[in-house]
Amino acid sequence: MLAIGVDVGGTSVRAGVVDGQGAVLDTARVGTPQDEVALEDAIAGVVEELRNRHEVSAVGLAVAAFVRPDRRSVMFAPHLAWRQAPVADRIAKRVGLPVTLEHDANAATVAEHRFGAARGAQVVTLVAIGTGIGAGLLLDGRIFRGAHGVAPELGHLCVVPGGRACPCGKYGCWERYCSGTALAATAIELLARHPGRSTVLTREIADDPGSVTGRRVAGAARDGDPVAQLAMAELARWLGEGLALVADVYDPEVIVIGGGVSESAPLFLDEAREHYAHAVTGAGHRPLARIRTAQLGDEAAFVGAATLAREKSTTPVD
Ligand SMILES: [Zn+2]
Repeated sequence: MLAIGVDVGGTSVRAGVVDGQGAVLDTARVGTPQDEVALEDAIAGVVEELRNRHEVSAVGLAVAAFVRPDRRSVMFAPHLAWRQAPVADRIAKRVGLPVTLEHDANAATVAEHRFGAARGAQVVTLVAIGTGIGAGLLLDGRIFRGAHGVAPELGHLCVVPGGRACPCGKYGCWERYCSGTALAATAIELLARHPGRSTVLTREIADDPGSVTGRRVAGAARDGDPVAQLAMAELARWLGEGLALVADVYDPEVIVIGGGVSESAPLFLDEAREHYAHAVTGAGHRPLARIRTAQLGDEAAFVGAATLAREKSTTPVD
């Protein structure tokens, strides 16, 4: 049985036809419109496009948003037009299929649990490192959403009291030290402290400091740029320290590292594992979570959303 998963992100709406083994049979994509009506038109459009080519039975939406606990409505989305919007019912009406709604990181966690890096594990933390940090928690095999549907916001755990300002209004949030954005900020800070120690990055920053991105810092680190490598080591440190905090609360069996930054995992993951192993409470006297890179890449959110939609449509209502 096939289902369509739709990943509704801040820049694009990406959809895929997914089978029961998590295989992606077909995809469609469109830019994310800014207003509510056009956004829903775009979602209905990609669903219709895929339905013309495949027989599907359900649709799952993965959204970068706070989703109500009943998973029918979006409460708030920082990068999307919806505010207190009954999205699942509106889309269901448009496409004439059952529609489920899920937070994108939760959907990605489900995908990695069913088909990827966390297969078989019962307590799983997913940390998607991109522009910020997206996180998902699986407890005893089930997604943990908190009482009001907004957990977990791991990216806004404070790791540096009084540290870098975060758009969320707090200071020293984990994602300010462990993300693509953080990698660029760290590199710029390090260059100011060690002028002349870098080649590629120094030139880029002299030309335009705004042009330094996490991706370019990672590329420079790969090319042997010493300042970029220091920035990468900082990211590794904060990843390990932050995961140790998370492990103190949840004691996960598997930690999955996803998001765009995970493409550079060979540059930081072993080091992050060492920091984690030292920073976790009871270090040296307890089993440690296995820290793995995500296997489903940027398709994880729509694969997970399709899987949840399919499972819901084939499970009797309890
Ligand atoms: Zn924050």
